[in-house]
Amino acid sequence: MEMDFRAVVPPSGAPLNLWVWVAQLLITTVFATGFITYYQQAWHMAFETYRDRPVISGSIRCGMLVGAIVVGIALHMVGWLVFANASGLMFHNLGLFALTFPLMVEGESIMEYLVQVVGVVYVWNMHHMGYFNSPQYVVSMVVLAVMVYVMWRYKGAIRYHVERNVAVFAVIGISFWALLPHHSAGLTMNPLIAVQGFTMYLGMVIATAYFLRADHRASVRNQENDQTAHFDSLTNAKSYATYKEDVTAAFAQAEAQGQPLSMAAVDIDYFKQINDHYGHLGGDDVLVGIARQLSAVLARHGGRAALYRTGGEEFNVLLPGMDAQTARPIVEDCWRSVRQSHFASGVNVVQVTISAGVVDMVATDNNIEDLYRRADESLYQSKHHGRDTITVNGQTVTSATEHRPVAIRTILTQRVYDTRTNPLVPTHDEVILATYEEAYDRWDFPEHVHLRCLRSWTISARS
Ligand code: GH3
Ligand code: MG
Ligand code: MG
Repeated sequence: MEMDFRAVVPPSGAPLNLWVWVAQLLITTVFATGFITYYQQAWHMAFETYRDRPVISGSIRCGMLVGAIVVGIALHMVGWLVFANASGLMFHNLGLFALTFPLMVEGESIMEYLVQVVGVVYVWNMHHMGYFNSPQYVVSMVVLAVMVYVMWRYKGAIRYHVERNVAVFAVIGISFWALLPHHSAGLTMNPLIAVQGFTMYLGMVIATAYFLRADHRASVRNQENDQTAHFDSLTNAKSYATYKEDVTAAFAQAEAQGQPLSMAAVDIDYFKQINDHYGHLGGDDVLVGIARQLSAVLARHGGRAALYRTGGEEFNVLLPGMDAQTARPIVEDCWRSVRQSHFASGVNVVQVTISAGVVDMVATDNNIEDLYRRADESLYQSKHHGRDTITVNGQTVTSATEHRPVAIRTILTQRVYDTRTNPLVPTHDEVILATYEEAYDRWDFPEHVHLRCLRSWTISARS
């Protein structure tokens, strides 16, 4: 095809020259990718980086909202007032895109969403000025309203799904371009112009859908990497690497600002026995249960103290800003909570205890190792005192008066009724669901329920 560069501004009612259309398609698609790159960066800052700083986060969200509406309306006006006839197609599409894309943003409030909708409707109406009574306008508004509802309601399922995302925006694009009146914001419409306009919008929509999916996948991968690096995969307590990072920072801060810092070295008592009795996997279950229990107790105390898994069945609790006297009741609560709990270990239920050594930072601690060594010595002292014990700065303060067995004996009993009778008639006195064999230290679950008939009940079925 011969290129006619003089036809850049087509006469009224004429579509774009093919090459100008291709150029505009390219420009709009590349613009869309750039626009959403900046938009997504702002989104990550508002909803992730500064999530806990409401003033900064709110300002960014406000900027995103106002920015998209101003850019959208400005580009639309440029397409109408600066570029004549179909040469303005690109600007109408850029404007429409800047206004409609933010409708799919995650996490925004209903107010933000409604403001965006007002922006879209404003530009939409400018394209229908003088034709508000036409059925085309009514149909396009109804379709837009339906899509606005669908996007708000099903945003989570649509946003990162390429086909759904493209489908939803394609419906908006079609209802916009196919239903424009004959004279619309500087355009004299005909079907080819509508197709050119829609395909350009579709190009932007497809580029956006792939971009959003890639951005989301990268985000998920980052979160997973972050989780793997910072948390222990078995117990979900913080990892040893995180402990090193945090204790270094906490020590430096305590030293610089003269604030107290406490640490508790925690070790599970007789854990080898748990492994020996219930197997390694059973032991793992108990480890997970204890870590969960300790985390819950620390969270109850305001979450200032953090739990780290520093070894196989060894944990460390870091208590920044607390001296040993403040830390002591928290560690005691951990200790009490564990010894009063029952932990699942495979099909069994076990009780375990922990020992701890609590210390706070003193002037002679030159580095983290000095602090850790003293915590470890206190822990050793707790073990030496018979375990199930807490030692604070070398003084054994909590010693269990009553020692718990590793496992408990549970027999579940129940009365059995004949359900055919009214009123119900008891037929048996007892069902033993599980027995604990002390001699072998194991739980026994009979294959068949054992019914013991203590009396002979007369069962008479009602006729
Ligand atoms: P105590 O601390 O009271 O002196 O006795 P203990 O039996 O707990 O002694 P020790 O600390 O020496 O034993 C720790 C055991 O924990 C040894 C190891 O088999 C087990 N262990 C370490 N890591 C894991 C793990 O990830 N899973 C399981 N199931 N066991 C582990
Ligand atoms: Mg141990
Ligand atoms: Mg140990």
